[in-house]
Amino acid sequence: MDWINTPSPYQDEALESYLLRLSHHLGFPEYADFAEELWALLVENTPDAYGSYPLSLHQANIYHAKVASKLRAQGLFFVGRQRGVEESELLKLALMHSKTKFSPNYKAVFRDGIDYPFTLLRKDHTPVCPECVAESPYIRQHWHFLPHQVCHLHQTRLLSHCPACHALLDYQSSESICYCECGFDLTTAKTTKAEQDLVTLSQWLLGENLAEEGMLALPLDISARYGLLLWYTHRLGDEENVDLAECFTYFKAWPEPLYTELDQALKKAEAVRVQPWYEKPLSSVFDNLVKDARNLPSRNISRNPILKAIDAYLSTLVNEHAGQHADNPSNMLVSTFEASTLLGCTTDEVNRLNDHGYLQTAFRLKLHEKIESYKPIYHLRDVMTLRLTHMQSSTDGLNVFLPEW
Ligand SMILES: [Zn+2]
Ligand SMILES: [Zn+2]
Repeated sequence: MDWINTPSPYQDEALESYLLRLSHHLGFPEYADFAEELWALLVENTPDAYGSYPLSLHQANIYHAKVASKLRAQGLFFVGRQRGVEESELLKLALMHSKTKFSPNYKAVFRDGIDYPFTLLRKDHTPVCPECVAESPYIRQHWHFLPHQVCHLHQTRLLSHCPACHALLDYQSSESICYCECGFDLTTAKTTKAEQDLVTLSQWLLGENLAEEGMLALPLDISARYGLLLWYTHRLGDEENVDLAECFTYFKAWPEPLYTELDQALKKAEAVRVQPWYEKPLSSVFDNLVKDARNLPSRNISRNPILKAIDAYLSTLVNEHAGQHADNPSNMLVSTFEASTLLGCTTDEVNRLNDHGYLQTAFRLKLHEKIESYKPIYHLRDVMTLRLTHMQSSTDGLNVFLPEW
């Protein structure tokens, strides 16, 4: 095998796309034959390589490994060494399991410094831009993500079905980048003009800084931008069928649409409530508002504009009722978990603030009663007032109120 003259991967190329191109270049009619050969060479040359190597392109990426991903990674390193380039060349293209979580409980995959919500990864097909493929026949990584429905370069809709046989396009099954399984040449497919909003949204998700308004104007890293989109789809839509045009309008007007929703929820609660405010959990009015914004994927307010807007809204709510003796919404109850999110600290620290008398529970606890973190127990106004007196830690952006010792 002539490894030295093999093509290089593109920086925005999907790993599966590159492995497919490599196997074709090396003369293998099917990817499985290449994978088998690679595995044989790997075992022969690497003393600690053992296990079964994935023979299907669908399983080639590192995040598919259920137990240990070492053999897959060793395979990628091996390719780098054979090509005479940096060993980790292909690891930068791989999608790996990430320890990051997106709220409320979404797994993440990691690629070259960026965390993506796993749920926004297309599982059974990959659309293509016929014009991009005609210019350079390889699959762009971002086509694997659900929020990319258009090509931001050619301003056209991505093609998800073959115009000839109408099958969903999946280059990992057809093992071809330019042709559908029926033989149709995808580079000749007619394209449809994309909606400008979706083009802008794609550019934004690729990290471009845009002359836009609202959320789209904020200088956020790509993981945070995906976090915002996930938050939107979790709250107002579903991941598979999100209306991106509506999402674009919502983000552009940010934070007004959220404030309007919260005002309405508060009004509704006022109209129907039977409990006094001082017994009413915040979550019974605003649902999982605070919980869903906790990690997107960062808890640092400068990287999490949703949390920042919620914080601003609740601060205003508390300020508007400052000094008021009559029962009012600033008396609503928040849990330790919600308090820790709003204070930007850990739940242990909220417990310490309570132990040391900085934050009092809304009602008396039984002697030695353990506070469950989900139990609504603090008045919102007490938490927000404490927030004003916080100290910022220099390392992780989280706040430190009381040291552990
Ligand atoms: Zn294109
Ligand atoms: Zn076809």
